[in-house]
Amino acid sequence: MVRQPEIHCPACGYKPRLEDRWSCVPECGTVWHTFWTGGVCPGCTRQWKTTQCPVCEKVSPHRAWYHLPSEEPGGRREPATLDIET
Ligand SMILES: [Zn+2]
Ligand SMILES: [Zn+2]
Repeated sequence: MVRQPEIHCPACGYKPRLEDRWSCVPECGTVWHTFWTGGVCPGCTRQWKTTQCPVCEKVSPHRAWYHLPSEEPGGRREPATLDIET
């Protein structure tokens, strides 16, 4: 069984919806769903380290949005990986 990390805002717990979009500003202006690409802008391939919540508008580290159901204490620091279907 594959464990998928749950994605939600570390500040308010909001779960990104399919229709949510983020803008690559002030870089290339591309609008896309940042959690489909792991924070990488498809327009300029910039890796965004932070992601702003569309609801509470708090900016948090992108990886802080990923919450594994069973994180081991003192565990590893690698970011969660997602299977991205294109
Ligand atoms: Zn939030
Ligand atoms: Zn961009």
